[in-house]
Amino acid sequence: MVCRTLSLGLLKASFQVVARAVCAAFFLTGCTSYGVVGAQNVHQATNSKTVSSHPSYGSTPNIIVILTDDQGYDDVSFNGSDEIPTPNIDRIAFEGVRFDRGYVSFPVCGPSRAGLLTGRYQSRFGFDLNPSENPDDPRAGLPLSEDTMANVLSEAGYTSSIIGKWHMGNHPQFHPLERGFDEFYGFSNGGHNYYADQYRDIDVQAAKTSAALYQTRLVRGRESIDASGYLTDLLSDEAVDFVERNKERPFFLYLAYNAPHAPVQAPPRYTDRFPHIEDETRRTYAGMIAAVDDGVGRILASLEANGIADNTLIFFLSDNGGPLVRAKNGSRNTPLRGGKGDIFEGGVRVPFAMRWPNAVAGHIDYPHAVSSLDILATAAAAAGVDSKVRKPLDGVDLVPFLNEKEFVSRPHNALFWRYRDTDSETFPRRGAVSGDDKLVVQQRDRMLFELETDSGEQNNLAARERDTVDALEESYDDWDEEMGELSISIFNEWP
Ligand code: CA
Repeated sequence: MVCRTLSLGLLKASFQVVARAVCAAFFLTGCTSYGVVGAQNVHQATNSKTVSSHPSYGSTPNIIVILTDDQGYDDVSFNGSDEIPTPNIDRIAFEGVRFDRGYVSFPVCGPSRAGLLTGRYQSRFGFDLNPSENPDDPRAGLPLSEDTMANVLSEAGYTSSIIGKWHMGNHPQFHPLERGFDEFYGFSNGGHNYYADQYRDIDVQAAKTSAALYQTRLVRGRESIDASGYLTDLLSDEAVDFVERNKERPFFLYLAYNAPHAPVQAPPRYTDRFPHIEDETRRTYAGMIAAVDDGVGRILASLEANGIADNTLIFFLSDNGGPLVRAKNGSRNTPLRGGKGDIFEGGVRVPFAMRWPNAVAGHIDYPHAVSSLDILATAAAAAGVDSKVRKPLDGVDLVPFLNEKEFVSRPHNALFWRYRDTDSETFPRRGAVSGDDKLVVQQRDRMLFELETDSGEQNNLAARERDTVDALEESYDDWDEEMGELSISIFNEWP
């Protein structure tokens, strides 16, 4: 039995190696054909078409950020998954850029989204853990001192919508329509059931338990509504509708699917595509991703049908790695170590892709570390409002880096992670990446990994490379001094 299991495992491992090799070969070919020499041609070929279609906004791109929730690094076929094909999401990576080392700024939902939406390390403004979901607590949400991407893009006249999960506070002052967005469809708390008979019980103001929050009615604008249908499909419907309604003017769509976050729920029309997955949880998880992938395909088709695909900047990423301990959903972060909640790669390195045909060539497999913090900076530059951003950003405009011939420059000298949970105030988990060196500190345990050869973080070099450890710790300390203290309410307590 042991031998059989082992041999099956080896067979599967071999297949995955082949799948990754095919994927890598595709990118290598693509980089040679397009990434180095084709950017200008792509730009010229597509720009004229788009501009002539919609002269009202010239080359100012539409911007779409598609965020998934708790999706593992390995669970897109553009990162080599042989079990869960994602042909539509793959188009963003293949026709644009696959970021091999795309990081989020925190390994859990709320702070990661706060970083993404502000383009700033969330620790700068004390958003160090998931916020309390008490709708009466004015400290339980994204501090009002911060601007969101919607605020920034409104300076350029963008129409903005968030569709899906907000998680930036349930108090009315944190409502998306108070934070720069023109439209909102979804739910304001951190998680949600997927079937209508499980989510139309109560409004968020009446939910006094974490479980009840998953059952809250959906919201359109500020009104709770009676929706029916599988939630992921509803979010995709709304996204396509938003694109159709705004095709004549620049728009910003923040499509924050809660899939494939638990509860693991998907109907047979999606799960039936995965008879090869024996484990029921993972099969259902795969179905949840298939629903997202179908939605992405419909959005891409709508952009193309309306002649605005080439002039739309799309990002796709997950908000953190797949959870392996709590809220397990069947995800995999292979070959990375750890998962959601970890500073190891499996917690913070996620499926990450970008596509903007008018400005960046396709078939780029980008080697350097990039961050979710870069999305706002890239969007602001694309919209021509980078000079109007009120606070210093931690992200950078990625476009110039992606158009370099040999990708010589790195967008970041270093990236940092700080995770103070309620039990480790004295010794927060700390992380730093600089080049291929990765420092992870947990309690008093210092670990150094060389990511180029050890993306699975198995070989701790700290004892041998003390100077590197010291240098990374020093740069972490310098960064940490700039950060603030926890400023938001974090406990779900209701009077
Ligand atoms: Ca998440």
